[in-house]
Order: sequence, then C-alpha cells, then structure tokens
Amino acid sequence: MLTTREEVMSRLYKIGSIAAAMGAIHILTLLLSWYVQVIDGTEKSVQGLVSPYATMMSLVGGILAGIGVVVIHFIKGLRAMKNILGVSIIAGGLLAAISPIYSYWFWLLELSSYSRFDLGFFAATFTGVILLAVGALALLTPVKEEVIPSAFTAMPPAGPELMEVGGAAPSPSRPATTRIVPAPDVAEAICSICFDFIPEGEAMRCSNCDAIFHKGCIDSWVSINGICPSCKAIVTDREG
Ligand SMILES: [Zn+2]
Ligand SMILES: [Zn+2]
Repeated sequence: MLTTREEVMSRLYKIGSIAAAMGAIHILTLLLSWYVQVIDGTEKSVQGLVSPYATMMSLVGGILAGIGVVVIHFIKGLRAMKNILGVSIIAGGLLAAISPIYSYWFWLLELSSYSRFDLGFFAATFTGVILLAVGALALLTPVKEEVIPSAFTAMPPAGPELMEVGGAAPSPSRPATTRIVPAPDVAEAICSICFDFIPEGEAMRCSNCDAIFHKGCIDSWVSINGICPSCKAIVTDREG
C-alpha cells in the first residue's frame, strides 16, 4: 500500500520511465522489417519506416507514451498526475499497437496482392500492447485523497462541549436506580399512571422521584418495563 505522496510519485515516475523506454523501442522497430512482400516469386523485406502511415503513427505513439513522465513533472495533484500519465501512455500504446495493422491494411495491401508479416510487425505490435498495460498500471495506482488535518484536530474539543450542553443524557456507566415503597400516609393523591384517585392507604411511591401510583398500576408497569414511569430510574425492589 502506498501511503505517502513520495511513494506514489516514485511509482508514477518509474511507470513513466518504463513507458518512455518502451515508446523509444517501439519507434526503433520502424528500422526492422515489418512485412515480407512477394513480387513475381521474389521476397522483399519492407521496413516499417518505408510506410508513411506506420512512420507517422508509431512516431506519434512513441512520443505520446514517453511525454507523460515529462508533463507530470509540472503538475501538483497526485490524482491529476496519474490520470495524465495513464491516459498519455494508453493513447500512445493504442497508436503504437494499431500502427503495423493499419499500415498493412491501408498501405501494403494496396501495393501488393501477397505479403506477410515479418519480425518487426510483431515487435511493433508487442511494444504497443506493453504500453497499454503500463498505462493501465499508471491509472490503477492507488491515490488516497489528501486529508485536511484541521478537520480532525477540530473534532475532539467539540464533543465534550456538546455533552455538557446536553446535560440531560444519563451516564450510561451508572444508571439511576429506585425502589417502589408503600406510602400509607398519602391522602387524596392522583396515580401518575392512570390519573385516577388513590384510596387512602393504597398508594405506592417511587423513592427516587416521589411519584405516587396505585399498587396495581405500578406493579403491572414495573413487571413490563422495569423502570419508574416518571423518572425512568431502574426499579430494583418492590415492597408491599
Ligand atoms: Zn393507577
Ligand atoms: Zn421515579
């Protein structure tokens, strides 16, 4: 995994150098015999250089493949560097790979009814295909978006402040607990669950918030919810 800008740049420059060398080799294949032309029973070697199409396409392709590594020297963003490098190598590779085939169909076949491919043809096509692969390597180079450090350093102080303002949030490590106890002295109270009057001597009280309930109401409520309906404290004990 490439983590630093230097590592990514070093890899891009390596890829660019390989592409430049391969582009130069491709141009040199123009000096090789690309085709064998058969005229009146005699074979004649045809250099890539002899074809105007091959010369033009292979020269432009080789230069395109090699120019990326020079261009990225003037670019700052890693993403832009890798895209420009990858696209220029792939464009050069396409021209280089198509050059011998295009030249064959649109130039050589016009001149001679019978001809075949020679070593130079395969060398030219091969270097073109390698350029395509090298260009893909450049595009596939993982480049992480550079993070703005301030976004992270600003976060932690904001957290505790928000907690202070919130205040009401109960501490999850130590939830409040309560007991439901009889309140025989309470008279004419209203049940916090059913809002009906509680007959004297039948009231129950939450020891945490002093809310008053019918015994039947709070018993049912606690057995289902386990907390005081008024203050939400966990009921640990029910008396009476
Ligand atoms: Zn009630
Ligand atoms: Zn309570």
